[in-house]
Amino acid sequence: MQIAYYIDNQRTDMRIQYLIELEESMDKKNISSLIERRAQEFIDLAEKIWERPEVALEEVYASSLQMEYLAANGFRVRNVNGLSTAFTAEFGNGKPVIGLLGEYDALPGLSQKVTAQREPIAADDPGHGCGHNLIGVGCIAAAIAIKELIEKGILNGTIKYFGCPAEERFGGKRLMLNANAFDGVDCCFSWHPESVNKITKETFRAIYDVSYRFRGTTSYIAADREMGGNAVSAMELLNIGVQYLRAHLNDDYIIEYCVTKGAETSNVLPEITEISYALRADNTDQCKKLVERIGKIAEGAALMSGTTVKPEITGEYYSELYNEVLGDIVYRNMVEVPRPEYTPEEIEFADTLAETIGKFPVDRTKSYYGIVETQGSMHRGVAKQDRISYKPASDVGNVSWQIPTAMFFVATNPIGMPMHTWQATATSGSSLGYKGMFYASKVMAASIFELMEHPEKVEAAKKAFNENFADRK
Ligand SMILES: [Zn+2]
Repeated sequence: MQIAYYIDNQRTDMRIQYLIELEESMDKKNISSLIERRAQEFIDLAEKIWERPEVALEEVYASSLQMEYLAANGFRVRNVNGLSTAFTAEFGNGKPVIGLLGEYDALPGLSQKVTAQREPIAADDPGHGCGHNLIGVGCIAAAIAIKELIEKGILNGTIKYFGCPAEERFGGKRLMLNANAFDGVDCCFSWHPESVNKITKETFRAIYDVSYRFRGTTSYIAADREMGGNAVSAMELLNIGVQYLRAHLNDDYIIEYCVTKGAETSNVLPEITEISYALRADNTDQCKKLVERIGKIAEGAALMSGTTVKPEITGEYYSELYNEVLGDIVYRNMVEVPRPEYTPEEIEFADTLAETIGKFPVDRTKSYYGIVETQGSMHRGVAKQDRISYKPASDVGNVSWQIPTAMFFVATNPIGMPMHTWQATATSGSSLGYKGMFYASKVMAASIFELMEHPEKVEAAKKAFNENFADRK
């Protein structure tokens, strides 16, 4: 059946050549053209999601759009229990079951046109400043290509797309793991827009989002000085305590916070204040200890201010458990798949954007990754690094502790330009973003092709996972 398909419609004198190429994994090379053939459909999907940005757990439009598209393409689409904007879509039968982790949530306040100067579409609206409009659709393009090969009998197994909400807050994949959505999956792949094409070991560090809610007594202090329970003082005492703790923390940790509920005015003491902490550490255990330590400081702050405190963990992102076998497969395909070439207009756009961040982050990134292959401000090589210099987090980390997972990064931004910025919203709605998205799709499709064609590689990835898990647990 495999051969019959490829020699159909071919002239007889070409058949021998075709058969030889088939032996040399012609189908794998063919994957890129399967994606290119439907490129406009994928650009339309990514563009529509970019134009209607929705923040964490509100991705009704993005998830429906993707569910409809996948159902129309023959995927079996299912909602995930208890999560209205999460879903799975699978095609094929039996083993191996390969997962693709899609995302689609946007970030508050990052509305921006596709221009190289700060220009919100609507002030204070959300925007795709982390390029999640590209992540989900890039995974869908790879899923569609693999589906076509399964349909034609060239590959065997099941391809399963995960529509994962709320990556930026709440850790949607953790919620989906808790709902058993990932049961039976053998390996997972995902990618993320960035400023460098790279695969890195242990990319993601752990992060816990914890909010502390202090309850005191509302009063007018000028009249009621003896009233107890000052919730504003409690919040400040917590912050001061944490500043002292910093002296005992090395570079493995980062602590950020913001006041999410303070006083409205200085002459009314509010009953309730709330402060939200993002606690990052190099690994999950360190992070859990940090949460415990700051919890004690919060209790102390409540005691000193005569209030009560209620901590709540709102996000729990694990550090990444790197899988050597899948990482090597992805890296090789990143090198083999041709990287995007840019038009003079695209380079001019990238160069103008790069000027807005200044020279320092550009030079630092170039020197850190030893970047030599460039076109204007865009990276065109592939870097492989042991660790990265900054500490991003993602709920892909949570999946990596349950299933062998590979994660890589693709340049959709000029070198050195960070995500979570208005500049990244602009590139995520531009052809720089779409070109990166297609490169990522081709790399994932080629990697999944390898696993389905050689199931022994799936077994090798599982063995590496088990060994690594036992060592690190
Ligand atoms: Zn992101």
